[in-house]
Amino acid sequence: AIRRVEREMLEGSRDYAIVTGMQSVDGDTAQVPPQIAEELGIAHIAYAQGLRREPELTIRRIAAEGTEDVKPKCLPVLITLTAATEPLYRSFAAAREARIAEIHEWDSASVEADRTRIGLKGSWTQVHHLFSPSEARTKDCEFVSDPAELVARIKALYAAAGEAVIADGVEDGYQLGDRDPTYHGEFWVYAEPEGDGVRSVSLELVGVARGLARPLGEKVGAVIATDDAGTRPRSLIAAGADVVYVVEHPLLSGFDPLYHKDALAQVVQAYRPQAMLFGASPLGRELAPRVAYACRCGLTADCTKLEIGDYQKGSVDLVGVLQQTRPALGGNVMATIMTKDSQTQMATVRPGVFRAPTPDPQRSGEIVRPEVELDVSGVCLIKTPVESFASTVSIRDAEVIIAGGHGFRSKADFDRHLNPLAEGIGHLLGADTKVAASRMAVEDGCTTHDFQVGQTGQTVQPRLYVAIGISGAIQHITGMQGSDVIVAINKDPKAKIFEYADLGVVGDIETVIPALTQALEVQA
Ligand code: FAD
Repeated sequence: AIRRVEREMLEGSRDYAIVTGMQSVDGDTAQVPPQIAEELGIAHIAYAQGLRREPELTIRRIAAEGTEDVKPKCLPVLITLTAATEPLYRSFAAAREARIAEIHEWDSASVEADRTRIGLKGSWTQVHHLFSPSEARTKDCEFVSDPAELVARIKALYAAAGEAVIADGVEDGYQLGDRDPTYHGEFWVYAEPEGDGVRSVSLELVGVARGLARPLGEKVGAVIATDDAGTRPRSLIAAGADVVYVVEHPLLSGFDPLYHKDALAQVVQAYRPQAMLFGASPLGRELAPRVAYACRCGLTADCTKLEIGDYQKGSVDLVGVLQQTRPALGGNVMATIMTKDSQTQMATVRPGVFRAPTPDPQRSGEIVRPEVELDVSGVCLIKTPVESFASTVSIRDAEVIIAGGHGFRSKADFDRHLNPLAEGIGHLLGADTKVAASRMAVEDGCTTHDFQVGQTGQTVQPRLYVAIGISGAIQHITGMQGSDVIVAINKDPKAKIFEYADLGVVGDIETVIPALTQALEVQA
């Protein structure tokens, strides 16, 4: 359709930009816009927060470590906006303009779409199973009313959680037997550079890939694309990679998605891994859709669970394939998805869902240096950093998180109750403790989005998560249910949050929190 607009309405002019939303609420994958850019062979500017047209087109966007201004060097360009501006409301003037605007209705035939590549049949992925997120519930909440007893129970559960053995997060037990699996080859992880090292989500994924590759007897590969790999291959081997593919090229110094996509697509096509995992970081979510599209492979976004399994239905018979589970329809259902008609099964995985394996510096592995050819005409974006988030406190690594929700009536109440409580619990447990929030509390202005836990915030897995005045909406739960110990405080005994909690207190914030803070002072 865009090609037809260019041809017929713009009379062949390439002087335009395409603006899209970042993601739909139902699919929520954010992968269609970058794949459209890949199809059209143009640059894509993701996570845009706003744009200026004068004196030249400049887009302000969220980058991996801050905010930056980006100018496209050539047009067309595809821009995806995220939580960008105030919603536009209907005005008289705009409504009048809309009435006289021409509306064209096109179908797949009028845009000459290839029918084998559209709709369900054209999809490179297939939903295997839909289920309610509540099926994942495992906890029986123990209700406590005495503050001193609550402190003692928190202390005991916190100590026990520290002793638990941390596995790679992949369920063992898949038996291949003497069957031939549908896919063959290594399990790969895209190793995202961060400073001189590797982003923690990539190390988490190396651990996951080990668990997935084990029952199939395959190796784990990590691929790094940069101008200078430094000591990163060693740390990837220490984390569990058997082979590290190092693609070094001067054009891979910054992050220009077109170069990185080219480099990764070439090595994927040359070495044909059976699976490739990307962290669902801003960079990974931009890169993975383009690599998948360039390699004609299916991609499942934002997975929260990965396992090996079989799938039989009608003439489809898949053996030992990657089952990719993710929240769908705004988090109200969970979908397990499988890749079909693809060389490599690809998925992005949210940071913090799995735990990084303990590095073993003694491990040995192979380093392979594939050659790639990069097309220099791909330089399309000029970037100027505006603000760096480098010093921002991250809640993702905290051992203890005290999260507040809409139950707090104001920011003043939020701060007045939660800061002393976090200090008291941190002191009692000798743990790094951070205050976080539900999306409603962020929207109420209690704190900023960096501290939001949940589907559209951070995924956290602390040893202790205390949810106060939070109802337990599934979009919040998906961001914190991996915590070792969950404590919920809520005045509504029927609040959903208790279904996910180990310990619960039914009561009002105004009475429970001061009493708990006081009990902590006594016990500390
Ligand atoms: P509420 O649901 O209003 O709950 C407040 C709770 O506080 C209630 O249970 C109430 O009983 C209790 N309470 C009230 N007063 C008191 C008191 N005095 N003492 C004790 N308890 C009290 N949400 C997220 O958190 N993170 C996300 O990332 C996220 N992403 C989303 C993405 C999508 C696509 C959608 C559709 C929604 C998303 N949401 C997210 C929103 C989510 O659906 C809920 O609306 C939100 O989590 C509710 O926040 P809350 O629990 O703080 O507020």
